Amino acid sequence: MDEKDYYEILGIGRSAEPEEIKKAYRKLAMQYHPDKNPGDKTAEEKFKEIGEAYAVLSDPQKRRQYDQFGRSGMRGNGGFSGGFGGFDPFDIFREVFGGGGFGDLFNMSGGGRRTVQRGSDLQIRLKLTLEEIATGVSKKLKIKKMIRCERCDGSGAKPGTTPTTCPQCQGRGEVAYRQGFFTVSRTCDRCHGEGKINSHPCSECRGDGRVRGETTMEVEIPAGVAEGQFITLRNAGNAGPRKGPPGDALIIIEEEPHPQFERHGSDLVCHLVLSFSQAALGDEVEVPTITGKAKIQIAPGTQSGKILRMRGKGLPLLQGNGKGDQLIRVQVFTPTKLSEKEKQLFKELAQQENTKPTKADRSFFDKMKEAIL
Ligand SMILES: [Zn+2]
Ligand SMILES: [Zn+2]
Repeated sequence: MDEKDYYEILGIGRSAEPEEIKKAYRKLAMQYHPDKNPGDKTAEEKFKEIGEAYAVLSDPQKRRQYDQFGRSGMRGNGGFSGGFGGFDPFDIFREVFGGGGFGDLFNMSGGGRRTVQRGSDLQIRLKLTLEEIATGVSKKLKIKKMIRCERCDGSGAKPGTTPTTCPQCQGRGEVAYRQGFFTVSRTCDRCHGEGKINSHPCSECRGDGRVRGETTMEVEIPAGVAEGQFITLRNAGNAGPRKGPPGDALIIIEEEPHPQFERHGSDLVCHLVLSFSQAALGDEVEVPTITGKAKIQIAPGTQSGKILRMRGKGLPLLQGNGKGDQLIRVQVFTPTKLSEKEKQLFKELAQQENTKPTKADRSFFDKMKEAIL
């Protein structure tokens, strides 16, 4: 499939309101539905594509994620696996058009309004160090969640029994009744829309089809993520009751405070303390970087408050392939305990013309302002 933008696929602007998104989807879905275009592969692809675009843009969380990560970042390998693939375009169609009605219009198989309950989404907070964010990292997570009951294979029925078709709706999950001139449908109250009646519930899951369990999942965190962003693992959430589709797992990124670096977007800020003589004479000093130590040159006459910039030593950008910078705030250390000899030397220095401060000018204050990040 090509990498067309979801907004483009639906022919809407990036700030489109939910109603507008739905309207655009409805129009296109009607046009490209395979039942309306039998044997037309292009229409089928198109139908899938608009379904996928709608599924993402109609879900505020997914839409935000898409706006942040783009489409390529969300599919791909590893942790984003599933990403946005794996949609059933017919499910989406049924959801928007409300099952029965339009399904029948198109002679869709398995009509009726049978309710299948989807499992709920899981929200998992994942703490990452700046080092992990700098390189990207693969994490194995142990997660407690609802999983399919093995005893009944998720059906909720005692092994050896099968739920019977609901006699009230004949398994359709909805019942039609007349209201004036119209025939209206409502959810069947006998089976609660499931179409089936389970008179022998499984003893393990009490008919729910799922039990509490634990799974391990591996998630690939791309380099450059930030606090509050999240990664959606499609279908990795709680199992749905009685074979209902699973929810998603949202991995929410949390950033651990770093002992040396402060993050400003993709830039990293750290402090460097210099002695009087290092600042005055210049020196080569070792500084930490997020990927290890590095040496930098301190120019003679470096002022306290000066910002040194190490280009490309910050964090990678999530999108694109650039990197932020590392900013080093210089502070000149004033000694507090001096021996008699040291005091004497400072007194001698103080007599020298060039050790007296020059008048602070405008640009000095501007630099100080810049220094207070
Ligand atoms: Zn069971
Ligand atoms: Zn029923």
